[in-house]
Amino acid sequence: MNKCQKIQCSVSSCMFNEFSENLCNLDAIQVSAGANSDSGAPYDETLCASYKPKKNKK
Ligand code: SF4
Repeated sequence: MNKCQKIQCSVSSCMFNEFSENLCNLDAIQVSAGANSDSGAPYDETLCASYKPKKNKK
């Protein structure tokens, strides 16, 4: 089954982010466990492993 999934994202520092539309430009992303993946907090448990900083970021 081929779903047309949309990835909504507001991480404006990512080179794949279309911030004005709250969208990721990629067809698919990898979501991975975070470094502190035993706290139960979303910001510790999960992260977008497809993130790449914009060229003007470090
Ligand atoms: S790659 Fe990840 S962080 Fe970057 S726009 Fe897509 S969903 Fe957001």
